[in-house]
Amino acid sequence: MKEINVKTSSRSELIDITGKVSTFVKESRLQDGTVVVFVPHTTAGVTINENADPSVKADILMELDKNIPHDDNYTHLEGNSAAHIKSSLMGPSLTVIVEGGRLVLGTWQGIFFCEFDGPRNRKCYLKAVGTGGE
Ligand code: ZN
Repeated sequence: MKEINVKTSSRSELIDITGKVSTFVKESRLQDGTVVVFVPHTTAGVTINENADPSVKADILMELDKNIPHDDNYTHLEGNSAAHIKSSLMGPSLTVIVEGGRLVLGTWQGIFFCEFDGPRNRKCYLKAVGTGGE
């Protein structure tokens, strides 16, 4: 398993980590299998979506904010309930297929770390599962 660091710079942000995951696959020498991307945080998550047009990221964040407002008479006293809810909606992990040593993603897909309670220094765990892996 490898731990990677993700430095975020605003409260809500989607950060493309496809390159980091791809580098990990090469380093692990995994040929055929899967890579698990796991976010060990309760106010962050991970998702796959379009990495070609940055307006897609902006629209995802805008709609999440609209549907899950920052202030809404939440009972959690830490003041970051919206971030916890968004974290659960996006989810803590992804599994991506690896074939011939490469991530299998659609043409327009990228892997995004989802920050909902930043800015912070975050981490993400990567695990190669399959033949030729660690
Ligand atoms: Zn909290």
